[in-house]
Amino acid sequence: MTHSDGYTTETIIGLEVHVQLKTNTKLFCGCSTTFGAAPNTQVCPVCLGHPGALPVINEQALELAVKAGLALNCDIPPVTKWDRKQYFYPDLPKGYQISQFDLPICAEGYLDIGADSSGTAERRIRILRAHLEEDAGKSMHDEASGQFDTRIDLNRCGTPLLEIVSQPDLRSSLEAKAYLNELKLRMTHLGISDCEMQEGSLRVDANVNLHIHVDGNKIATPIVEIKNMNSFRAVERAIDHEVDRQYDVWEETGKTIKDESKTTRGWDDQAGRTFLQREKEESADYRYFPDPDLLPVRIPRERVEAIQSSLGEMPGEVRERLQTEYGIKAYDAEVIVNQGKDFIDLYENVVTVCGDGKRASSWFQQDILRTINEQQIAVSEFPVSGNDLGTLILKITTGELDNSRARDVFQYMLDHGDTVEASIKALGITSVDSSELEGLCRELLTKNPHVVEDYRNGKQQAIGSLIGQAKKRNPNANPKTVRELLLQIVETL
Ligand SMILES: [Zn+2]
Repeated sequence: MTHSDGYTTETIIGLEVHVQLKTNTKLFCGCSTTFGAAPNTQVCPVCLGHPGALPVINEQALELAVKAGLALNCDIPPVTKWDRKQYFYPDLPKGYQISQFDLPICAEGYLDIGADSSGTAERRIRILRAHLEEDAGKSMHDEASGQFDTRIDLNRCGTPLLEIVSQPDLRSSLEAKAYLNELKLRMTHLGISDCEMQEGSLRVDANVNLHIHVDGNKIATPIVEIKNMNSFRAVERAIDHEVDRQYDVWEETGKTIKDESKTTRGWDDQAGRTFLQREKEESADYRYFPDPDLLPVRIPRERVEAIQSSLGEMPGEVRERLQTEYGIKAYDAEVIVNQGKDFIDLYENVVTVCGDGKRASSWFQQDILRTINEQQIAVSEFPVSGNDLGTLILKITTGELDNSRARDVFQYMLDHGDTVEASIKALGITSVDSSELEGLCRELLTKNPHVVEDYRNGKQQAIGSLIGQAKKRNPNANPKTVRELLLQIVETL
């Protein structure tokens, strides 16, 4: 971008994303990974690092890591190994973390972004690597009590994480957000991770700096790693803030770069700014060395191929297919796909029954999505079955129910868990005899000569006022049929 004083800058962003793999148990022991358990209830000698306890690899984690790598177009090398990353931290009882140093499970891939309606240009973002590692515990600082106690919960120790490292290919906060959205979509779609930032199952660190063009030269500002961002929106804001801040610092220091060392800054979401956490970060000496308790893992070609062929459609492919198969718009397909696999499956189930992709799409985006949000339920817990939803929508298409009656039925089904037919019966909805409806329309036109007058003077919409009256007299009257009848009759008067 070009700044007010005429200098042009380019924003350089690389993202490190930690995704918690959706395994039942931890990476090297049988402890549960369920979120929200009472502190220190999901631990054992292995994840507590007791001497003599030996780690055993979780096959499900390997499977999911390979799946993730393939979804990100990575190579899966035939051999991968485990290394100890050594550092001290109170929530790391072993004094080291089992991670992967020089032979990660996934190497060199890419993610295409901007193929949706996000407004970013279509671009290929290279992925450097993705490696498996175990999570550390959690320190809880209790400052509210005035005691300044710090307590440690080790439930998370040993939880499998996949760290996905992008090349510094992203050029704006918008692109970073598009990358994260696409990444999350793929991970959730394939059941690899829940990607809940609030629960810590997806964490993002952003490396950001600027290339400033001065007299034909390119000056690079020092790289800043931003941490503590707890939503994609926060990532976007933090990057935008950091871009401005680095430019300002460059101007304030006389347009020179004095110190090129990398620093770490935290994001303060409320204040909307980053703050210094660690200065002059040398490439830390973790003294990585191969874990002597764990053998290297061989991943045979056939296993990779089997996982590849089990992947199924990627979200982008589903987006395309929904448009061509059901005739819905790109935006609508995107909204449906972004809700995840269960939502897509429910939508397709409904369309199979009602045969109307467009009408179903609008019901999904309005009534069904609203119900899910209001009741805060998962799609799999939706109280009305796909067959009943499909039957309900079919009744609108065939004219048996109008939209407002259909909504009454939908609400009744939600409240009582009844089928469409039972709900219609319970609500006393009956189809109206056409001669009865015709009589009603004729009566309304006779009683409202001004409407007939207006209609004859070219005001077609005047008829509309009578539809409401008809509905009031007989709630089962279908507005579309009433309109048609009114138009037919008014011509004969
Ligand atoms: Zn354990």
